[in-house]
Amino acid sequence: MGTGLTVTDYDVVLRGGRVIDPESGLDAVGDVGIAGDRVTMVGIGLPPGRLELDVADQVVTAGFIDLHSHAHDLGSARLQVADGVTTALELEAGATPVGAAYAAAAATARPLNYGFAASWAMARMSVLAGLAIDGSAGQMFANLADPRWRRAASPAEVDRILALLGADIADGAVGIGLLLGYAPGAAPEEYRRVAALAAASGAATFTHSRDLIEFAPDGPVDGAEEIVRAAGETGAHMHYCHVNSTTLRHADRVLGLIERAQRAGSPVSTEAYPYGAGMTGIGAAFLAPERLAERGLTPRSLIYAPTGEEVADAQRLRELRAADPGGLAIIRQLAEDDPADRAILLRYLTFAGAVVASDAMPLTWVGAPPGIGAAAAPDTWPLPSAAFTHPRTAGTFARSIRVLHRDNGLPLPEVLAKCSLHPATLLQDRVPAMRRKGRLSAGSDADIVVFDPLAITDQATYSQSTRPSSGIRHVLVNGTFVVRDGRLHPAARPGRPVRA
Ligand SMILES: [Zn+2]
Repeated sequence: MGTGLTVTDYDVVLRGGRVIDPESGLDAVGDVGIAGDRVTMVGIGLPPGRLELDVADQVVTAGFIDLHSHAHDLGSARLQVADGVTTALELEAGATPVGAAYAAAAATARPLNYGFAASWAMARMSVLAGLAIDGSAGQMFANLADPRWRRAASPAEVDRILALLGADIADGAVGIGLLLGYAPGAAPEEYRRVAALAAASGAATFTHSRDLIEFAPDGPVDGAEEIVRAAGETGAHMHYCHVNSTTLRHADRVLGLIERAQRAGSPVSTEAYPYGAGMTGIGAAFLAPERLAERGLTPRSLIYAPTGEEVADAQRLRELRAADPGGLAIIRQLAEDDPADRAILLRYLTFAGAVVASDAMPLTWVGAPPGIGAAAAPDTWPLPSAAFTHPRTAGTFARSIRVLHRDNGLPLPEVLAKCSLHPATLLQDRVPAMRRKGRLSAGSDADIVVFDPLAITDQATYSQSTRPSSGIRHVLVNGTFVVRDGRLHPAARPGRPVRA
């Protein structure tokens, strides 16, 4: 904590809050001075700013960094800001060509910072299915179930896929995202070559794993082993996406595997979100009627978002997969009301080094024509009742803080590090701008969240999925208030690109 200041012209002073900087370990009452888009001082008795806000009894800390967000429409992005997120990155699905994705995001102007990985799925859609890819999430979801991109590729085709990914890396992609579990036809050798490309350029990869051997005993390789092995063989940083939703009740084996790899010095990291259900396009390979039993699911485990219906039977599931393969569905997997399943979720979230990441989804407009339709969605706030998403979009971070800190007693700085510092640290070698994020100290970006530690909680549920989190008083992105006094300002769109 510094005193004896000479600087007097702060734009904003957040006065008298409990300031937590996960990097330095600072956890003390003090003031935070902001000038322009930077934190310029953290200390006691700062001189007055142009705007003075009393934040006594509130926590003041670095805004949350979400490594896994598909929330590219304004409505879902605003739900994330209202949950304390100041940077939302599309690293698992990715976007190719990445330059087109950055240009589209800049053209809309976003309420929070954004960034993209190169997309192995879209590169495959281009090379194997001949699609004219545009880097949009809508196109990616719409073609997720197209069998052409999910088949095995010849060595020459793999060369072309790698060339597209390499071009994106050269164009500033944050990393390489691999929806491997959606393309079970892809050979392990192709995956290893993508990892080698990533290693050569210092980029991390972000993988939705291939099926675990427990789910698909006939698969070419176990999905968890494959990720860990690629790190060992190529030296690439392999990030294991949403370990909760792809490994389900196999936490012992998979977390044990990751832990051993980490102890052996392999660059493997992971993430989790605090919900028992997943959500993806209903045409996904692993949601084929004949494959649901592998995960202990039935058609009734699925809720088709555009109509809100519980899928009645295998016949109805086949119809929906044929008519609207990109249509989103909730997949009820772990049971949140079952103590044993809740304990499994907690293990993923508390795993050493695991970061909180939401897998936030775009809004589905109930009753709208098939397809994502985000581009045509009305720009309204608060969101009308026709807007639907997975509650993780709106509530992952507030819920993680509530569950980990209030319900289970983890120290708040440790929980906040999982939400801000650790995700920044994972990326900062390739993306130097991340060194100024995930911290709250002089010189860091003024991406800040102010919340009541006794009240912060998620409000979104599976039936009321777009209720914003509560207990969050202020959210600043690059020094601009997007949430002030608990109210989100729809006109505020200070988001900037995060690019390597
Ligand atoms: Zn995924």
